[in-house]
Amino acid sequence: MTAGRGRPIVFDETLQAEFLRLVADGVHVGEAAAKVGVGRKTPSQLAARDRRFAAALTDAKVVGRAARFSPERLKHGAPATYNNHNCRCPRCRTAATRARSNAPDRKHADILELPDTQQATGETEFLRAG
Ligand SMILES: [Zn+2]
Repeated sequence: MTAGRGRPIVFDETLQAEFLRLVADGVHVGEAAAKVGVGRKTPSQLAARDRRFAAALTDAKVVGRAARFSPERLKHGAPATYNNHNCRCPRCRTAATRARSNAPDRKHADILELPDTQQATGETEFLRAG
């Protein structure tokens, strides 16, 4: 146990199973450790001396990574999803367009991509864009 940490929680098989389930579900290792109440280094320390747990953790990470990046799990409607995960769904495209339009240096460059609610006023906009 971690002496001096004030919280003598045993990373027993029940917590290990819960931890591995979280990781396999796409939760980051440190966050999963926090959720089951152990230190963020505890799982890797156990993995270093327990080959079975190490193998299970490796598997869980692979499954978890796939879960995190599956199209269903991406946070749609966020510019980062458009930029980092190349999602081109309508919500991500709108979010990315809006983010670019709001960037000060791109305001005029993207003026033709603004939603319909932003009424373009004919040649005035083209003059400003140029
Ligand atoms: Zn999307």
